[in-house]
Amino acid sequence: MSVVDEKDRLGQKLRDLEKAREDQWAAEHDRELLDKLRRRAAAQGPQMNCPQCGRALESVTRKGFSMSLCSEHGAWIEKEALERLLGKVRDSK
Ligand SMILES: [Zn+2]
Repeated sequence: MSVVDEKDRLGQKLRDLEKAREDQWAAEHDRELLDKLRRRAAAQGPQMNCPQCGRALESVTRKGFSMSLCSEHGAWIEKEALERLLGKVRDSK
């Protein structure tokens, strides 16, 4: 075995190490991205589906009331928003 071979093998080993470090960085980067996505999903609350057709409800805001809407069947509205809404209906009578 020549000295050159030895150097090549050392170089290859260094390249392998570098590659491993890059892979590790990529894995950590992926994990960070996943965490970020998971936190964003948690902030939005669980995805809800229409009890009638099972379709994913669409989050919409109408006149300041945020609700989850099925374009065919109806909407889910949070209690607090519903009470505000009913209050408005009563006020208008
Ligand atoms: Zn529906």
